[in-house]
Formats: sequence, C-alpha cells, structure tokens
Amino acid sequence: MAVTRTFSIIKPDATRRNLTGAVTKMLEDGGLRVVASKRIHMTKDQAEGFYAVHRERPFFNDLVSFMISGPVVVQVLEGENAMQRNRDIMGATNPDNAEPGTIRKELAESIEANSVHGSDSDDNAKIEIDYFFKPEEIVG
Ligand code: ADP
Ligand code: MG
Repeated sequence: MAVTRTFSIIKPDATRRNLTGAVTKMLEDGGLRVVASKRIHMTKDQAEGFYAVHRERPFFNDLVSFMISGPVVVQVLEGENAMQRNRDIMGATNPDNAEPGTIRKELAESIEANSVHGSDSDDNAKIEIDYFFKPEEIVG
C-alpha cells in the first residue's frame, strides 16, 4: 500500500481541554507521522472557505463559529493509506456512533465539537493541505 498524506485539524474543543498531545498520540499510535503542524486561530473567512462544501448545510454557521471559537492545530499526516487510516482513527462524525478507541468516541464532546477534522478523499487532502501549508512547511 502506498505512503500518502492527509490533512487533519485538532479542533477548538480539543485545544481548549489541552488535548493536543492526546490526539496526536492516538494518530501516531495508529501509524501516522506528523510531517507538518502549526497552531493557528482561523479567521471567519478562512473557516468559511475551508468548509465551503458545507455552505448549504443547516449547521454551517454554527460550525464556522465553533471553528473560530479558539485555536486549532492544523497538521499534515503521512502514512500508508493515510486518508482512510486517519478516518478510521478518528471514528464516526457523531461520537455516539463512533467505535470504542477512536478519537471521537474517547474525546469528542458532541457531533459538532468532535475534536478532529480529517480529509475524506485523497483529492480533498491535497486541496486542504494546500489551503493551510506551503510546500516548504512540510518536512517528511
Ligand atoms: P466529518 O468531519 O466526519 O467528515 P462532515 O464533513 O459531514 O463530517 O461534517 C463536517 C463537520 O461539521 C463535522 O466534523 C462536525 O463538526 C460538523 N457537523 C456535521 N454534522 C453535523 C450536525 N448534524 N450538527 C452539527 N454539526 C455537524
Ligand atoms: Mg468531512
């Protein structure tokens, strides 16, 4: 299986509870390597642009408000089949439906404040990585 990259965000509910390390450990224990990482406070424009695909969803405005409610940690993760591996480690969107041992089951507060974002395809991973990182900020 090929080594690929995906994009991750440690969301404001997790940074607020000082869980950056706990989340990162679960990603690393699951076989992913952090090859880029920075802590940022997203602007409204940045968050709206990032979630543009969800613009028509009823939860869009709340989601943007949540994502700018505190700092986040944006990361590039590398590993075998990184996108799917990360989705497996994250668990289902709604923590009530997530498997035991997943980040969202163990750490998330709610379906919105669900601790992590992960790209949902290799194509979107590339778009999302490029949205937050310059090539020279990624060191594998
Ligand atoms: P995922 O993050 O698992 O890929 P989606 O792409 O469908 O899930 O949704 C993006 C984010 O929007 C979710 O991670 C969550 O923070 C929020 N969200 C999704 N569905 C809901 C919902 N029904 N109510 C509130 N927030 C939601
Ligand atoms: Mg998604």
